[in-house]
Amino acid sequence: MSKTLTCRELGGTCDAQFSGDSFMEVMQKGAAHMMSDEAHKESIMGMEQRTGENQQQWMDRMQKEFDAKSDDK
Ligand SMILES: [Zn+2]
Repeated sequence: MSKTLTCRELGGTCDAQFSGDSFMEVMQKGAAHMMSDEAHKESIMGMEQRTGENQQQWMDRMQKEFDAKSDDK
């Protein structure tokens, strides 16, 4: 079963949705999307300052959020 995260949940700026069977799969789809436009790149680059988390801490937290999500219907 796949799960879905939104661009915004991943630190982006829009409501695009990415789904996959694992967080890594969703991350890969999200990363390609983030790199496609400047506003998204800026949002991602500023994320560490906004959240106070380094990349590893952010990844760990997002993995937990992904795990806690319910499966797509
Ligand atoms: Zn987006």
